[in-house]
Amino acid sequence: MTPPPGIEQRRVLNTAIPGPRSAELHARKNAAVSSGVSTGLPVYVERAGGGILVDIDGNQLIDFGSGIAVTTVGNSAPRVVERVQAQVADFTHTCFMITPYAEYVEVAEALNELTPGDHQKRSALFNSGAEAVENAVKIARSSTGRQAIVAFDHAYHGRTNLTMALTAKNMPYKHRFGPFATEIYRVPMAYPYRWPTGPGNCADEAFELFVAQVHAQVGEENTAAVIIEPIQGEGGFIVPPAGYLERVADWCRDNGILLIADEIQTGFCRTGDWFACDHEGVVPDLITTAKGIAGGLPLAAVTGRAEVMDAVHSGGLGGTYGGNPVACAAALGAIETMKADDLPQRARDIEALFVPRLRELAAKFPRIGDVRGRGAMLAVELVSDPGAKTPDAALTAAVSKACHAAGLVTLTAGTYGNVLRFLPPLSIPDDLLTEGLDILEQAFAAAV
Ligand SMILES: *Cc1c(COP(=O)(O)O)cnc(C)c1O
Repeated sequence: MTPPPGIEQRRVLNTAIPGPRSAELHARKNAAVSSGVSTGLPVYVERAGGGILVDIDGNQLIDFGSGIAVTTVGNSAPRVVERVQAQVADFTHTCFMITPYAEYVEVAEALNELTPGDHQKRSALFNSGAEAVENAVKIARSSTGRQAIVAFDHAYHGRTNLTMALTAKNMPYKHRFGPFATEIYRVPMAYPYRWPTGPGNCADEAFELFVAQVHAQVGEENTAAVIIEPIQGEGGFIVPPAGYLERVADWCRDNGILLIADEIQTGFCRTGDWFACDHEGVVPDLITTAKGIAGGLPLAAVTGRAEVMDAVHSGGLGGTYGGNPVACAAALGAIETMKADDLPQRARDIEALFVPRLRELAAKFPRIGDVRGRGAMLAVELVSDPGAKTPDAALTAAVSKACHAAGLVTLTAGTYGNVLRFLPPLSIPDDLLTEGLDILEQAFAAAV
């Protein structure tokens, strides 16, 4: 992949991180922006591309976050820039529900082609991941005539009222924001590292618990849909054991329940295939996408079986900005890049470079309890006592802080705040990956 011209693919530390200009701007931020909107690393970015973020103090940081799995094709990816610039000059908005345009249709066609399954599909476009999840629930309820939605422990589906209800974690997402939407039910997640009787029993026991709880507490005939992230994101990059998703999918089909795969974080090449469901041949009825879809512009989608998507009455889905032409142009540029540069393969190459280093680290630092993930969606879970697996959020924060100070952007995650997650843009060169891993190792050495 060729990074955009002008940004040298090199880490540069000119000042302390954050530098004085960032600190000054951050004071203005605190005076102007609601404190409810926090920043993980207050360096103010001026330019970005490849695997580098350039801040207003002239520092160049290595990006292991991609703005939370969004800039999969890289920031300002050339094909995205080209299409967006042309589209902005042509027209910026008409509202697809009033006078439509080709770009929306082309994105829908691409989604129908690329998402799992070769059945007839339809798509609808929205602005954010949460909005896509809300609409998937609306579609599932409308098409089944049922109301209950089953979600999992550690799930994250967004911050709107309905998606807060689907999200598992209280702080910071739900605290004091209730009451939440009704007819949402939660079941245990197949979480191998923390499965009480050991990872070997996880697939069977988690599936049996899921079936028993839906049967006893919800009722199959009341259940419109089961929504699951095929690899959980904010919850801590929890990868269910092989075969688990397929069994859930089969059981849903047998009971007339729709399976919604929330691939907002896992989708679009992130895990080493187009979608995380592809690794196991799982075909969901509905799939939600956003984040990586449009190279950083806000766009989201629901794609699903034609008969399910078309069950909704005409005019029942939409929104003023949904499928904005500039965001659609960006998506077409991003998808073109993913195909031309074979980004699923690039994510697998990143996994091959990254995982052995993480395993070496885990051998050296026993407080790394688990190494997991797929493709360029990788994580380590940190514990204070490897035997008891006691979550260690303080160590996680300390390592993350040390990485930030050294010019490496890392993110944390996990219900217990004890997961360091790595989501590099797929446009990052290998030497920056290696340098970032060296920084991570030094951060562990200093923190433990
Ligand atoms: C980020 C995310 C969402 C919410 O997307 P927004 O664009 O922030 O509303 C929903 N589901 C998953 C799995 C996500 O990672």
